[in-house]
Amino acid sequence: MSEPVYLDYQSARPVDPRVVEAMLPYFTELFGNPAALHEVGDRAETALEESRAKVAAFIGAQPEEIVFTSGATESANLALSGFASRNRRAGDHVVISEVEHISQHNIAKALEKSGFRVGKVPPDQFGRVNPEKLRARIADDTILVSVGWASNEIGTVQPIDDLASMLHGTGVAFHVDAVAAEGLLPMDMSTVPVDLLTLSSNDIYGPQGVGALFVRHGVRIAPVLLGGGQERGLRSGTENLAGIVGMGEAARIAAEELPAEASRLSAMRDQLIAAVLETIPDSHLNGHPTERLPNNAHFRFDGIEGESLLLSMKDEGVSVSTGSACSSKTLEPSHTLISCGLLHEEAHGSLEFTFGRFSRDEDVDRVMDVLPGVVDRLRRLSPLYKTD
Ligand code: PMP
Repeated sequence: MSEPVYLDYQSARPVDPRVVEAMLPYFTELFGNPAALHEVGDRAETALEESRAKVAAFIGAQPEEIVFTSGATESANLALSGFASRNRRAGDHVVISEVEHISQHNIAKALEKSGFRVGKVPPDQFGRVNPEKLRARIADDTILVSVGWASNEIGTVQPIDDLASMLHGTGVAFHVDAVAAEGLLPMDMSTVPVDLLTLSSNDIYGPQGVGALFVRHGVRIAPVLLGGGQERGLRSGTENLAGIVGMGEAARIAAEELPAEASRLSAMRDQLIAAVLETIPDSHLNGHPTERLPNNAHFRFDGIEGESLLLSMKDEGVSVSTGSACSSKTLEPSHTLISCGLLHEEAHGSLEFTFGRFSRDEDVDRVMDVLPGVVDRLRRLSPLYKTD
């Protein structure tokens, strides 16, 4: 049996061994509470602030603009709910795109329950949000727009610079969920007028359970968690120091390695896309043909279910995904693919490959050794697939 192949980096990434090494002392000898005034506390505070500076440098921000959280979900809650409740007097209308991660949709739903109105911008067939279409959704009482930098599912990258420039100066704040794109695309808050940016640690090979929210100077948000007033009162609770040190080191490594890694990954991605489309009949690429994440290849195969494909690939030792792991327990087709105009049966026939730091060229060969046979076998069993 060959080595197992893991091509589901969008759902979870291993922690980089260099990150683990940086974290280890913070579980034992450097265990202090950053708020404590003695020497052990001082050392913890130094580590906390060094990590904040590393995360800030990673996105071209100032250290005071970084708030550590327990992960992307918490960051996005703090950004959307925190901004909406603090700025309600200015208006009660929020706009998101239809192709957001499920967490954004659920936060938007909660905002609606508390009296906000939420508008949703549809994307084009490739999953891209057009700045003019977004502009048309902005009303006098719009206070906040939220769009993901890229889709964790179909890999389409949004024109964030254009969207941010369009919103800049209108008085509408802009939140970007950067989780799918961080470490893969350069991000520079000193040149792009984004107001709030959600980051997760694991997506840059740091530990799970840590994240950060960039809050631009002057942007006012209310805390969601109340307590001891840590993180300038914006996120109470004793900091997860080892986790934060891990995220800081992960950000430092990601910043250093991003250009080389992005081109290495996009070569593998392009090789897989070309091989699948050439070798497997009635296969299609989902998402944008060029404006896509360097590590993402997302296909649909006529006449077969993504779930059966995933399980057959699992039997062959290849771990892949049908889309977002966060909503894999529902039988609903992906809302992202439906928003791109796919029929339910087309959306159900999708399979997502995401490469990462420990992927190798041989992984593409392994996929191509097994995928054509798997597709062929499932199609022969499928009443939905017609050969003539
Ligand atoms: N946004 C995007 C684009 C995601 O892919 C995810 C899940 N990895 C999240 C937000 C939520 O992240 P978490 O579950 O780590 O809080």
